[in-house]
Amino acid sequence: MKAPRDDTPVTFQTTQIGSHGRYVLDIDDIMTFPDIGHIPVLPHKPGESWFILTEIVSNISIGRPTFRVEDKLEGNYWVVAFYTDNPVEDARDCVPGSLICIKNRRPHRFLDGRYGFRIDDPSRVLVLPCTMARLKELNNSLRERSNAGLLLTCVVCNTPVRRGCERCETRYCSQECQRQDWPNHKRVCKVLKTLHE
Ligand SMILES: [Zn+2]
Ligand SMILES: [Zn+2]
Repeated sequence: MKAPRDDTPVTFQTTQIGSHGRYVLDIDDIMTFPDIGHIPVLPHKPGESWFILTEIVSNISIGRPTFRVEDKLEGNYWVVAFYTDNPVEDARDCVPGSLICIKNRRPHRFLDGRYGFRIDDPSRVLVLPCTMARLKELNNSLRERSNAGLLLTCVVCNTPVRRGCERCETRYCSQECQRQDWPNHKRVCKVLKTLHE
């Protein structure tokens, strides 16, 4: 007998919990994704992480890559400037309408009086090809599917399925469903991968 292929539909209960069965990293969680009013006062402790989510509004570089960004709370603006060893390379994906996600940084007051984030360590920054509005939509839909016990089912037809997209864990019962969803999925795969992590 042939072993079942990974994309073979299977039937099993989807009520199990665990990192794969439930969506746990919710961007509405202000402890993990603080907005301007909720950034921790003290530097992070070992093992503690928070992420600043901002959308690039415009490129205001004069020499050094520098961006005007909007907070998760609309109407709050910051400056993000790259002071890394290879700033141009590290900021290559920074275009208006994309997100800059910064780990464990407290706001910095620049010499010209503006507030924002000074990026010294490129490993603390992730640029995602996605607007804040789109990220919020994806976040809400993941949370709804998780609350409904559907995180382990095909996103196209809700058939329970064991394995997901190799990168982001989005689940498909068949190549047909995966192909059908691809025009939407290709734009959000990287973002979803990050949300799941
Ligand atoms: Zn399906
Ligand atoms: Zn994917």
